Amino acid sequence: MRVSSSARSVAVIGAGAAGVMSAIHAAGAGADVALVERTDDGCRKILISGGGRCNLLPLSLDEKKFFTNSSRNTLKKIVRSWPLPAVRKFFECEAGILLADELETEKVFPASGRAAVVRNKLMSLAKARGVRMIMNACVTRILPEGGKWIIEENGKIILEADALVIATGGLAAPKTGSDGSGLALLEELGYEIVPTFPALTPLLSDSPIYSGLAGISLNAAITAICGKKRTFAVGGFLFTHRGYSGPAVLEISHEAVKAIQNSEKNFRLLADWNSISEEEWRESVEFGRKSNLTVAGLISRKIPSRLAERLMKIACVNPSRLLAHLTRAERERLIDCLVRCELPVSGYLGYDSAEVTAGGVALSEINPKTMESRRHRGLYFCGELLDAFGAVGGYNFFWAWATGRLAGMSAAKK
Ligand SMILES: Cc1cc2nc3c(=O)[nH]c(=O)nc-3n(C[C@H](O)[C@H](O)[C@H](O)COP(=O)(O)OP(=O)(O)OC[C@H]3O[C@@H](n4cnc5c(N)ncnc54)[C@H](O)[C@@H]3O)c2cc1C
Repeated sequence: MRVSSSARSVAVIGAGAAGVMSAIHAAGAGADVALVERTDDGCRKILISGGGRCNLLPLSLDEKKFFTNSSRNTLKKIVRSWPLPAVRKFFECEAGILLADELETEKVFPASGRAAVVRNKLMSLAKARGVRMIMNACVTRILPEGGKWIIEENGKIILEADALVIATGGLAAPKTGSDGSGLALLEELGYEIVPTFPALTPLLSDSPIYSGLAGISLNAAITAICGKKRTFAVGGFLFTHRGYSGPAVLEISHEAVKAIQNSEKNFRLLADWNSISEEEWRESVEFGRKSNLTVAGLISRKIPSRLAERLMKIACVNPSRLLAHLTRAERERLIDCLVRCELPVSGYLGYDSAEVTAGGVALSEINPKTMESRRHRGLYFCGELLDAFGAVGGYNFFWAWATGRLAGMSAAKK
């Protein structure tokens, strides 16, 4: 698309998911757009996402699966700005990316199964709409001057623009180019930054209870308890050499990180193995007093045998005992290990291993209808830079797409 020289100029800093979406929509609304990126290619997180398949959206949107320390009302307004069917239509009809639904996990992927297709198609659409790419440029200062925004790299002016969109991401996976430098730029301008910490990150345990189980994976319901607050996630669970990982663990990891950072003494992490509830265990005939199975015979049928052995040891129940012969106390200890199994947590992996950043620019700093700053006219924010993140399952890309689009369209308006 040709852009007339009288068009409103928009600079977007950061060619990640949010920045590219923002540039595409600003250019689509007629602005003269430049996208400034510190790496030589951009969109590196898209390439490594979803194990190289890029889980670009959730199948349906559950607003409870977004987290923020700012106002939930503001968050909801932003999330509702681009309904999921319209986002899907954009990807299929405008970006030319066929989508495939994975019903079992409730995730949406490109039909090609290749994250590179998502990146390449979005970059091509941005270029086709006339977006100018300025790569290998790390923005070190932004300042408002005479109704324009001045963008500098190490004291040199790179660009001047009528409007500026900041899409520099958070601190997670710094090898992809996102190291929090955008947050530092905004802190310098006086913005409130909600303290950041790694989220969707594996947890560590220094307890020997589960040592030697690395590699065992199963479905589990994980509950994080901190005082009266309970956070719950169901999904894949993985024992690692140093602790726990898998989607269910990642999803509640922010609660563990917060508890560790605040030295909370009463934080607990509990597992309900194979998501079989207490009632289901108690009511199952096989577990009952008439069962002719041994403890090992039943538990190893439902749970990977090495884990089952460990649980029986923790419950102090002899694996070869008949279930029918268990004492009441043995039965209760076994139930506890199966549905309220304590997982000692001693730490967490940092930004190198985290999928997202919790915290960021406080949502009170923006107008949720436009993503414009409440402090400076012509300055917009989008993506992981903001104080919000989502659960595993395409929620974080949804946030990047929705906020990027809104910021880009608003920035293009006079
Ligand atoms: C391993 C991994 C797997 C993931 N998988 C999924 C998934 O399957 N589904 C999902 O929904 N989410 C996933 N995520 C999360 C998702 O990738 C991010 O939430 C999303 O990409 C954030 O987009 P963003 O544009 O806000 O930030 P980023 O993608 O971090 O982009 C920011 C861009 O700004 C650039 N930049 C930073 N500072 C400057 C500067 N000063 N000057 C110029 N440029 C700068 C960076 O180089 C980068 O290109 C995953 C994350 C990781 C790390």
